Amino acid sequence: MLLPDPALVVLVGASGSGKSTWASSRYRPAEVVSSDLLRGVVGSGEHDLDATVDAFALLEQVVSARVGRGLTTVVDTLGTDVVRRRRWLAAARTAGLPAVAVVLETPAAVCRSRNAARERPVPARVLTSQLASVAATADLLEAEGWQVVRVTPDEPTPDPPEPGGTARRPEFADPLIRSGLHGVVLQLSRFPADGDLLAWLRDMAAAAEEAGLAGIALMDHLIQIPQVGRAWDPIPEPWVTLGALAASSTRLQLGTLVTPVTFRAPGITAKAAATLSALTGGRAFVGVGAGWWEREHAAYALGFPSARARLDALEQSIETMRALWAPGTKPYAGQRVSLPETTSYPRPVGDLPLIVGGGGDRTLRIAARLGDGCNVPSDEVGLAKVERYLAMVREGGRDPSTVHATVLDLPLVGRDRDDVWSRVERHRGRAPAATFAARHHAGTATEHAVRLAGLAERGVTTAFIAPVGLDVPDDVLALAPLATAFG
Ligand code: GDP
Ligand code: MG
Repeated sequence: MLLPDPALVVLVGASGSGKSTWASSRYRPAEVVSSDLLRGVVGSGEHDLDATVDAFALLEQVVSARVGRGLTTVVDTLGTDVVRRRRWLAAARTAGLPAVAVVLETPAAVCRSRNAARERPVPARVLTSQLASVAATADLLEAEGWQVVRVTPDEPTPDPPEPGGTARRPEFADPLIRSGLHGVVLQLSRFPADGDLLAWLRDMAAAAEEAGLAGIALMDHLIQIPQVGRAWDPIPEPWVTLGALAASSTRLQLGTLVTPVTFRAPGITAKAAATLSALTGGRAFVGVGAGWWEREHAAYALGFPSARARLDALEQSIETMRALWAPGTKPYAGQRVSLPETTSYPRPVGDLPLIVGGGGDRTLRIAARLGDGCNVPSDEVGLAKVERYLAMVREGGRDPSTVHATVLDLPLVGRDRDDVWSRVERHRGRAPAATFAARHHAGTATEHAVRLAGLAERGVTTAFIAPVGLDVPDDVLALAPLATAFG
């Protein structure tokens, strides 16, 4: 069983049942608030019973402050005080945090012998009364509204499942039909400001291959976007850069996510993508979108027509690209586009998936009707769009197993819980830590693998991931546990 996170976790167990040990092996010290430790803070030591009132006053303050911020809080007390439990539960409900009671069902004899071995054991009759209150409390928790987890010595709470265990392909996945753009694709969005860009690209590509990622996608922007960095941070032209990556990789799928149709005439994008496909032996893909950032258009003297005109252009662009990629050189007369000839060589090798980015209703319809896939955010709103997209594909008489339902995911990945939270602190800017952590699903690579496997179960075929603070090849290698999330 995987405990929810963030959450309020209240431990319930007698002295020596192993509460503090359980907590410290799973949580960072700052996440655990312990009445014993606070006795040591406001009193002479952990066993200073005269300091109990002060220690609990502090404990209540810490619980209320942390839970109010939506931060994981593990309460390490006996857990048998019903008035306190009700207060903590109410605070968790108000903050929208799951409330979990972890009952340590360590046999009485074990607690007694551990207690006896302690430097300052609690008196035997006190322990007996603790064991009775814990047993009585355990029966009340479910009715009080807690999610109850029982920990027994024989059956310790399992750690997070191995990614391979839950990662299942969606039923309709058919690797024979789908191109290699299946799995987890790394989106590079930040580039080194100085040093050897080509060497950096080669090292990142080698690390992506070694980590088992399916490919690399590049953003197509003329100025670094504010969501990623500062305007003067470098953002190299993607098709040129993909050419360099093509020379450094033999396995990765390579493409843009996404190319605005406002930047280049569609025939020029078709030519670049077909060339990349030829250079890579069929490992290219093209993300296309209507464009959204007016500033970069103005700066580069590009037109930025109305949203409606840009979506018209998106349809025309897709039609033009497909016409040019089709076999032969004959004239093309389509619904929106007419070309006197369609002479375009080199031709793409095999599949050249066209992924339509954007979650607007018309964009999704364009993706379902004309594209080979969609790309939407990986949140619940985006997943609802994946469902709509797949329904549209079916309604249009197309086989959903031949399309790419893709999401863009911005994970914060850390080595362990400590590293995760120090990264949250480093990158959160002015956003509250809990909000930032939730937005980026802050967690270890294994935790992300489990989450991404869940996306696969909801019909997602490809996750483009742009990890927070990804700078060096080691950051890419650390993604290896995620790479298998899609089976
Ligand atoms: P608490 O009083 O409930 O907080 O219990 P502690 O976590 O302090 O544990 C009491 C003693 O039992 C310590 O000496 C721990 O090292 C030991 N202990 C706790 N959990 C385990 C366990 O799962 N296995 C073993 N063998 N010892 C444990
Ligand atoms: Mg303890």
